[in-house]
Amino acid sequence: MPKLLGENAGGDHRSIDTLESQALRAAQKIYNLPFNDLLFRAHTVHRANFDPNAVQMSRLLSIKTGGCAEDCGYCSQSAHYPTGLKASKLMEVERVIAEARKAKEGGATRYCMGAAWRSPKDRDMEAIIAMVRGVRALGMETCMTLGMLSPEQSAALAEAGLDYYNHNIDTSERFYGEVITTRTFADRLETLSNVRHAGIKVCAGGILGMGETAEDRISMLVTLANLPSPPESVPINMLIPIPGSKLADAAPVDPIEFVRTIALARILMPKSHVRLSAGRTGMSDEMQALCFFAGANSIFVGETLLTADNPGEDHDVTLFRRLGLKPMELEPHA
Ligand code: SF4
Repeated sequence: MPKLLGENAGGDHRSIDTLESQALRAAQKIYNLPFNDLLFRAHTVHRANFDPNAVQMSRLLSIKTGGCAEDCGYCSQSAHYPTGLKASKLMEVERVIAEARKAKEGGATRYCMGAAWRSPKDRDMEAIIAMVRGVRALGMETCMTLGMLSPEQSAALAEAGLDYYNHNIDTSERFYGEVITTRTFADRLETLSNVRHAGIKVCAGGILGMGETAEDRISMLVTLANLPSPPESVPINMLIPIPGSKLADAAPVDPIEFVRTIALARILMPKSHVRLSAGRTGMSDEMQALCFFAGANSIFVGETLLTADNPGEDHDVTLFRRLGLKPMELEPHA
C-alpha cells in the first residue's frame, strides 16, 4: 500500500506538492483497477487487519437539532435552506444518558452525540462534558460531533473522557467551496489537528453523490490517509438529497463507484474502521454486502441518524444473519 506523505511532509513546498501528486496518482491507479482486482486487494487488506465478519455498531443521537449557522449544501439542519426542519435547544443531560442506556441495551457499543453548531459556545461546555461523563459511565465509547473546536475545548473534552470526535472533511479540497462557503477546508483540518493533539481519537470522512468527480473522492481519501495519523474511524456517507437544500437535485452516485471508494479507503487506511454511514436506506442489501467485502466494518444502527432515515434494527438483524455477520465486541478502555 502506498504510504503517501508522512515523514517528508515537513519539507519544502515543492517536495510536498510532488509527494501529494505522487500519492494521488498511486491512489487513482488503485481506484481504477479492474473491479475484481480492487475488491480482492481491499478484502486481503481487510482480512489481515480485522475479523472480516465483525461489524462495529454505533448509535447516533441528535442532542441539538437544526438552526445551524453553516451552509453545508447537503444538510437538513442548515438555517440557510428551507428544509422544513424545526430547530430545537440542547437536550437535557439526563435525557441523553437515558437514551444512551437504551442504545446499550439494544447492542450499540459506541454512542455518538451530534449538535448542529458551527462550534460549541463556552456556556454549553458544562452540559456537554456531563453528557460525555454520563455515557462513559455506562461502559460505552463516546463520540461527539459539535462543529469546530478550539484547542481548549478539545482539551476539556479529552479530560472528560471523550473517546472520538467526528468532523468530516466532506470532499476534496478542490470541490469543498462548491458545497460549503461558511468555512474552509483548512478550518476542518485545524479542528482535526486540535482534537488529535488533545489525545481524542478522530472520526473523519465524507459524502459521495454531491456532484464530485472520482478524482475528488480519491483526493479526499488521500488527504485523510496522510493526516499525521489517519483517522481511527472513516465514515463514508451516500448523499440523501434533502428537499430544499442546495443539493436537493444532486444525481445519485453509481453504486459501483461507491464500492470502489470503500475499497480504496480500506487499502489506504488498513487499520481504520470504515463506516457505512448515512444513505444506507438508499443501498440494496447486495450493495451493502459488497461494501462489507470491500472493507466497510462499521454501521450506524437505529431508525434515524441525526435527522435522516436509517434501515432500522429488524432489517439489519436480517441482513447480518443473511451475511453471517456479527457485532464487533468493544475493546476494553485503556
Ligand atoms: S452539516 Fe453540521 S455544520 Fe453543516 S449545516 Fe449541518 S449541522 Fe451545521
